[in-house]
Amino acid sequence: MSAEDEYTAEPFVPERGGLPALRRAAADCRGCPLHRDATQTVFGEGDADARVMLVGEQPGDQEDRQGKPFVGPAGKLLDRALAEAGIDPAEAYVTNAVKHFKFTRAEPRKRRIHKAPSLREMTACGPWLAAELAVVEPELIVVLGATAGKALLGSSFRVTQVRGSVLEEEIHGRRERLVPTVHPSSVLRADDREAAYRGLVSDLETAARILS
Ligand code: SF4
Repeated sequence: MSAEDEYTAEPFVPERGGLPALRRAAADCRGCPLHRDATQTVFGEGDADARVMLVGEQPGDQEDRQGKPFVGPAGKLLDRALAEAGIDPAEAYVTNAVKHFKFTRAEPRKRRIHKAPSLREMTACGPWLAAELAVVEPELIVVLGATAGKALLGSSFRVTQVRGSVLEEEIHGRRERLVPTVHPSSVLRADDREAAYRGLVSDLETAARILS
């Protein structure tokens, strides 16, 4: 990476070797500056033959420490919602649009506060998501929130307009079926948590119907 406008993971992505090779290579990705402050790369997890891929925004504080996606409070809520909708969380491939945790601190040594990745960082990290899609070839992608939607479907994506619907789009040269919904962390922040949770489960039920 020689100049700021050349942020991309592309040179780090191996052409073969499946998910194990991708995961190993992603651990050393320097495709954008986010690797500098984060603890580690948090790559996707799940089987290469998973029928459904869940795509979130980026790892959170817990994910960054543990090196696994969706292990924090939002991930636990997501697992519960998936199970309630009829999707076994253990059978899904889970990943994020951006593989390093982006955060700010109000003061040194204080709690790390999540910061949304920029379009440029999302674009830089895109080759990892494209490689995961090419290996897993899911029957369905569940898009969790605005950042994942923008990374997959472009910057005009609005989760409120399309949540719970079934979309068909060309993504990285493949026709993909997608069901967008909110990110589970937005349920945790909602004033009416129960209503927000019910909305998430309802969207996931649409995904479950497609997979049944
Ligand atoms: S966020 Fe993505 S592109 Fe940037 S360093 Fe991490 S893995 Fe590489």
